[in-house]
Amino acid sequence: MTVAPRPATLPFMLLVSVIRTRVRLRVEEVKVMTAATHPGPPGGEQPAPVTAADLSPGRPFVFRHATVLTMDDAHHVRHNADVLITGERIAEVGTDLQVPEGTAEIDATGGIVMPGMIDTHRHMWQTAMRGYGADWTLTQYFVWYYLQWGKVFRPQDVYAGNLLSGIEAIEAGVTTTVDWSHGLQTVEHADAAVDALEEVPGRFVLAYGNIQQGPWEWSAAPEFRDFVNRRFSGGNDMLGFQMAFDITGDPAFPEKAAFEVARDLGAPVTTHAGVWGATNDDGIRLMHENGFMTPSSIYVHAATLTRDSYHRIAATGGSASVSTESEQSAGQGYPPTWQLREHSIPVSLSMDTSVWWSGDLFSAMRTTLGADRSREHLEAHGRQETVTHCHLRAEQVVDWATRGGAKALGLDALTGSIEAGKKADLVLIKNDGSPVMFPLLNPYGHVAFQAQRGDVHTVVVNGRVVKYANRLVGVDLAKARHVTEQTVEHLMSKLGPEAWAEGMHPEVPETKVLDNPYTYTEWDAGSAQWKGSTRE
Ligand SMILES: [Zn+2]
Repeated sequence: MTVAPRPATLPFMLLVSVIRTRVRLRVEEVKVMTAATHPGPPGGEQPAPVTAADLSPGRPFVFRHATVLTMDDAHHVRHNADVLITGERIAEVGTDLQVPEGTAEIDATGGIVMPGMIDTHRHMWQTAMRGYGADWTLTQYFVWYYLQWGKVFRPQDVYAGNLLSGIEAIEAGVTTTVDWSHGLQTVEHADAAVDALEEVPGRFVLAYGNIQQGPWEWSAAPEFRDFVNRRFSGGNDMLGFQMAFDITGDPAFPEKAAFEVARDLGAPVTTHAGVWGATNDDGIRLMHENGFMTPSSIYVHAATLTRDSYHRIAATGGSASVSTESEQSAGQGYPPTWQLREHSIPVSLSMDTSVWWSGDLFSAMRTTLGADRSREHLEAHGRQETVTHCHLRAEQVVDWATRGGAKALGLDALTGSIEAGKKADLVLIKNDGSPVMFPLLNPYGHVAFQAQRGDVHTVVVNGRVVKYANRLVGVDLAKARHVTEQTVEHLMSKLGPEAWAEGMHPEVPETKVLDNPYTYTEWDAGSAQWKGSTRE
């Protein structure tokens, strides 16, 4: 007996039939696409998938069928697009690109190709203490590094931190990192820092600093000049140079001499500005009045400044490096993107230090969106209002994590976007084993809120593949582990077990539990009810 379908099930069956037809069509499309763009050898065999060994330096390679976030001026997003890399540069971006013979083909189907991310402020020398200060405030950080233990770091400890941090950066798709290196007590420390940066196949900027002396002291030393001449005279775009120091606000402005050295060397200055309890508007005003605020100046945190300081920054063209995770936990001030947006001050992102957080710009993008939106809602609720539209968008934080960093560092002509002729610093986010990689509907949102460092499939720096199929390529992680262990051993022995444990576990302030008028104390089984409040 055949039962006629009930009317209510008809639309459902129609839907199933439509979906089936569409799926069949999609499968056919994929087959056609594969045949057209991946012509196999005669006999119909498919070429074997590319391995890391096929991606030897100098061999051209192409990403096929990616969603490409170009981050060019118009923020073009290209779908099912190819990116061809020859030598150190991006040769072409387009669809079904014709490629030179011998080009290795990376299947980027289902993935996102974006510019390599750029971190404009990371104290790389502290990475050997990874996670140690997870429960610190900024005060505890200052006491530990500035007053108590920063001095016991030897050149090899700076080397260990930098080596590990540099590898960590490229593994997470951060192709350019500013090493805010303020532990350079001697030039030997500085040489060790640069030795490590040169060993890692990433793009770096050494921001030279020394918290054990005033900047007017270390920058005047002949050996400092000699170091800069020795290590930075080659015009190498893989390793840039900045000077890193903070301005105390002392009316005598002793930092003036260091600014003059920076000007003389043509070195940008990066400074922790607007840090609660440490630096404030006075430092900005002194810089401005003395003519040291330039478009290459980077103001790290810039969180507790007044409108006057933001105006001075905006008018002189400098940029802010926002470390949201750091500002939220350590207490430099509320992450200031909401104020920077109001003043149209350019923004880049940074992770600050791995003594708390990892060097992962996905979390920087995510927390920056969260902090900006969270504040906007909170302020609105205080006015009995509702935010119906978010100001800060996922697209904006992806820009800050890539192009924004390149602009801040004056490297915009070189990196920060995927355009023909630029250096090939880029990342493929793809993870076929992850349920989070599909559907890929909103690529900016996907990068900011869905992807994470484990999804970084391929990383290219200066045309060289440094990570492929989720594994580092040509990087000696075992060596980084070995030197890090030696540094940890050295620091543990210097501190002793008690200071080591105290440093890692600061006291927790007492929490007063509030009196609760609804607290009942007695359960009456007979009536199955709570009886008697503490307030009664
Ligand atoms: Zn910092």
